[in-house]
Amino acid sequence: MRLDKLLANTGIGSRKEVKVLLKKKRITVNDTVIRDGGKHINPTMDQIKVDGNTVHYKPNIYIMMHKPPGVISATEDKRQKTVIDLLTDEFQHYKPFPVGRLDKDTEGLLLLTNDGDLAHHLLSPKKKVDKVYYAKIKGRVTEQDHIKFSNGIQLEDGYMTMPANLNILQTDDISEVEITITEGKFHQVKRMFQAVNKEVIYLKRKQMGRLKLDDALRVGSYRELSKEELGYCL
Ligand code: URA
Repeated sequence: MRLDKLLANTGIGSRKEVKVLLKKKRITVNDTVIRDGGKHINPTMDQIKVDGNTVHYKPNIYIMMHKPPGVISATEDKRQKTVIDLLTDEFQHYKPFPVGRLDKDTEGLLLLTNDGDLAHHLLSPKKKVDKVYYAKIKGRVTEQDHIKFSNGIQLEDGYMTMPANLNILQTDDISEVEITITEGKFHQVKRMFQAVNKEVIYLKRKQMGRLKLDDALRVGSYRELSKEELGYCL
């Protein structure tokens, strides 16, 4: 791997910033000053230092974000703010992408990574990873809805969903529910409620598989996954 790429991937700085560090002789590889960013590095064997401090190389980043409403689950967009825009440069250097999408107005657990294999694993329909949402629904959610959801429900385009578990927390003019689905179709939760003539007015993802949204993460904030949490995603 190229030295400049490795340094940029560890969050030391952009390629441009890394170039400056190299030029200023602030980088050593195995205690020799290196000025050539193209030098080939073995990340597990070579010892790289910046200003005498060892660089700990990690190729992948895994971030838990409490997605706020009003930002889109995309890596870039000309007009709208994306979840990537919320990250500091240190994290953006890894070039993470969101694992699946939450709608612009949906909040909650969003995993960001540059690990394509992990993303594929979590998103593959074959794996049937549970996604748990808390929702506020306009209208009274009934036992009938619960039964319909547990049998799978036909959406407006004819698609028949997989069975979903609907846990009714409160039923009133505005009901509160927890819903668990194993798929990730476009607007799925909203369209499932539409199919029983109800409207989702608030939606928050709480869990994906065994990975739970950290209650201590404020809306819009994020942190790296712990080792234990990463284990839940594999
Ligand atoms: N279902 C939806 O309708 N929207 C989301 O953002 C996620 C699941």
